[in-house]
Amino acid sequence: MKFKKLFIPGPTEVRQEVLERMSQPMIGHRSADFAELFNRVTPKLKRFLMTSGYAFMSTSSSTGLMEAAVRNCVAKRCLNVTCGAFGERWHSITLSCGLQADALSVEWGNANKPEQIDRALSTGKYDAMTLVLNETSTGVMNPYLEIAEVMKKYPDVMFLVDAVSGLGAVKIDADALGIDVCLAGVQKALALPPGLAVCSVSEKAMAKSEKAKNKGHYFDFVLFKKYAEKGQTPNTPVISIIYALDHQLDRIFEEGLENRFARHQQMAEYTRNWAKDRFDLFAEPGYESVTLTTVRNSRAISVADLSRFLAEKHSVLIANGYGRLKEKTFRIGHMGDLTLEEVKELLGWIDEYIGVKSQV
Ligand code: PLP
Repeated sequence: MKFKKLFIPGPTEVRQEVLERMSQPMIGHRSADFAELFNRVTPKLKRFLMTSGYAFMSTSSSTGLMEAAVRNCVAKRCLNVTCGAFGERWHSITLSCGLQADALSVEWGNANKPEQIDRALSTGKYDAMTLVLNETSTGVMNPYLEIAEVMKKYPDVMFLVDAVSGLGAVKIDADALGIDVCLAGVQKALALPPGLAVCSVSEKAMAKSEKAKNKGHYFDFVLFKKYAEKGQTPNTPVISIIYALDHQLDRIFEEGLENRFARHQQMAEYTRNWAKDRFDLFAEPGYESVTLTTVRNSRAISVADLSRFLAEKHSVLIANGYGRLKEKTFRIGHMGDLTLEEVKELLGWIDEYIGVKSQV
């Protein structure tokens, strides 16, 4: 199998030195060696998640922690704010957990607006709100800073954030923004292999979890906390990825969080300008994602053929549009450890395919 460099919106490209960390010898998850690893990673994770509350690792994909957030934090009724496939998924997860919930939706491609959320919360019906920070299906980044301002008016409403395709690419200061649960899988802007998800949990969310009924066993925050006090996880964790996370967090701090955010901005702006010039953008202006660009296929090319050309000739992968947006759009991921130079190279190859004289 010939490996291809990933410019899809997750999983993302994992650097060889990070992959190699996963081949360290296996240890028992109830051993002193594991506790040492756990106690080394957790403070780094807290710093990365920008929380003075709890930082947890969950052996699951991000969807597991989306379920955890609502099971631990919704008692009355949840407002699921949606602008695409992953917001809709969180709504169906909430309902399938037997919880009361309403969806507050906008058309795919648009962002959720703070005023809309404010209006819905002012009804007093809700004790939790879910928000997808960056909707990977449409390439829209929600105005989470403004939405966080609105949430400050509602301190009793749990603020649950899916930061799956944003964490590590943009600044999400969980404490300053008043986020009660901020969750993400590590296979996106953290640039690690899939299989582990991480989250911050506020004291308020933990207190809510203590009283929650029917929250199940696997994703119980109170159990996460109890085991964390011993340097453990409640169940057997994906130790190999935790080795890699330990190393990757060091690499991230070495680059510097602000530098990492700036690099993501540069890659996004470059890709957006290229897309506007060659095609068109799908996202509502002003709300374009920093981690992926959803290109409107205004030239009506075959995205499947373009993807084949890129894979066969240049060993790189891009993503077709999500679900019903297939062929109408295509998505270029520019997150994790990718560099502006790598993005420029990819866009040059797309130019080669569409026959535009490359300007990169
Ligand atoms: N939320 C968002 C915004 C995503 O992009 C994804 C996956 O792409 C998910 C949730 C679900 O993540 P996972 O497949 O890790 O469960």
